[in-house]
Amino acid sequence: MPTCAALIVAAGRGQRFGGNLPKQYAPLRGERLLRRTLRAFSTHPGVQRVMVAIHPDDAATFAETAEGFPGVEAVHGGATRQDSVRLGLEALAKSAPDVVLIHDGARPMVSAALIDSIIGALDSAKGVLPVVPVIDTLKRVDGARVGETVPRENLVRAQTPQGFQFADILAVHRQFAGQALTDDAALLERAGLGVVTVPGDETNIKVTTMDDLARLTAALSETRVGQGFDVHRFGPGDSVWLCGLKVPHTHGLVGHSDADVALHAGTDALLGAIGDGDIGQHFPPTDPKWRGARSDQFLKHAYGLLTARGGTLVHLDFTIICERPKVGPHRDAMRASVAKILGVEEHRISVKATTTEGLGFTGRQEGIAAQAVATIRI
Ligand code: MG
Repeated sequence: MPTCAALIVAAGRGQRFGGNLPKQYAPLRGERLLRRTLRAFSTHPGVQRVMVAIHPDDAATFAETAEGFPGVEAVHGGATRQDSVRLGLEALAKSAPDVVLIHDGARPMVSAALIDSIIGALDSAKGVLPVVPVIDTLKRVDGARVGETVPRENLVRAQTPQGFQFADILAVHRQFAGQALTDDAALLERAGLGVVTVPGDETNIKVTTMDDLARLTAALSETRVGQGFDVHRFGPGDSVWLCGLKVPHTHGLVGHSDADVALHAGTDALLGAIGDGDIGQHFPPTDPKWRGARSDQFLKHAYGLLTARGGTLVHLDFTIICERPKVGPHRDAMRASVAKILGVEEHRISVKATTTEGLGFTGRQEGIAAQAVATIRI
């Protein structure tokens, strides 16, 4: 087995990205892009060293980003990507590896399989380039005017990591220092040394814009479902609260708060989807603060916990179980009410009702039960 080092280029300032931090330090589902990149290489059994070219201003942020990954070293990069790579290679040269994988810090989705494939191809190649096909038709434009269609045959898009025999890539970086070339394989090409391709990976994208980050976040999110159930008994009164709506009735519902059985089930459904306990834990019935409280704040609180974790509500589906009052005439208003409490579109809320055919406690009109199912992306 050849000895292998990874050289991660993370010295850029990310001017194309916007935001306060260079893009490689932006969080992706709560973890910095660069930390994800470092993990991919530092935990790969075929990679013995990880050298990272960083900007001197980022030293403290980098130290925090690399925490817990043994064997990760840093070197100050230069003014251009090419300078940073050369400085990184020089830092590795003191105990030179046989081969080196040069990778963009802002490509956090690099897979172990792709790393394997590049190391494998270096058995018989000077340079290895992962490529993906060009699918879209290519046009050359002059401002908004289309000039011509560019033939797409034999065109591919180059990704990283690009793999090289260490001595070769160090030699060409020294030879061509100061001559701006777009990637490391281009230096080998210029020196007339053969570079071969291996299939890249469409998910191995380079995060350049906020849109890229949003797409990656969506791709990494998962769907979860939470359910809630609640019951309140009838007592004296002339109306019941259901889905944040006051509905006239011959009785009220008994409860510590406003006894909105539907919103309580909805709150538990949201809490269930994020695995954060239940309504009784967040709003103890023993706490006088919640006496007579409106339940919309319980639902809002649970929704706030969801969004604080980066989650979004896909759908919240209620079933109200009772003989009386009739829910049908209020269904649309209930749906609108929940949508308004949460500030989401009405199509994300559903309110259904059923009786139990006169059976059980709801059939005997002793109270109302409600179920809710929340579907979220997080
Ligand atoms: Mg309740």
